[in-house]
Amino acid sequence: MKNIVLFGPPGAGKGTQAEVLKEKYQLIHLSTGDMFRYNIKNETELGKLAKSYTSKGHLVPDSVTNDMLKAEVERHLKKNPNGFIFDGYPRTKAQAEVLGSFLEEKNTKVDAMVALEVDDEILVQRLLERGKTSGRPDDANEEVIRERIAEYYRKTDILKDYYMAEDKYYGVDGVGEIDAITARLSKVIDTL
Ligand code: AMP
Repeated sequence: MKNIVLFGPPGAGKGTQAEVLKEKYQLIHLSTGDMFRYNIKNETELGKLAKSYTSKGHLVPDSVTNDMLKAEVERHLKKNPNGFIFDGYPRTKAQAEVLGSFLEEKNTKVDAMVALEVDDEILVQRLLERGKTSGRPDDANEEVIRERIAEYYRKTDILKDYYMAEDKYYGVDGVGEIDAITARLSKVIDTL
């Protein structure tokens, strides 16, 4: 199995690239953001809880996020997948630890964290632009966008060190044409 953590701040292009890479490498794309949005749209209990955090640009608590993610991985493992692209997860050290031990229980592991590197001001512009068509309330408000980026630096950015210590960190320039960025990511994935 090939398990890749696709990493980067909000607006780095993780979702866009995951859609291309899942086809190219026949991997399961798991986005915790998409899972929360699905629950919010369907007004489930989980959705109501998640919305109270996502609407402010804050992270949903680890216990909730971890349980949701593990349930999805379990569901897909029954079908013997080639591997996973984790998009937007893990986002805290506690999540990274849970993911590591959970995958170990399943006799597999994270093979690499591939990070899309993009300047903060480009992120804000991209997210405001995306907000015009995405229908995502958290993309429509510059204050929430900036809070999401701040939350990334408070809680998530440190995961670079976490995976670097395991020799699994690969940084990739996330600015340019979509195809060019896919090529940069593929160059890393092909070595795994
Ligand atoms: P995303 O689509 O990845 O930008 O996620 C949208 C929102 O969902 C985030 O701003 C968080 O509020 C929440 N979220 C997504 N993934 C996670 C995660 N791994 N941990 C906590 N909250 C998350």
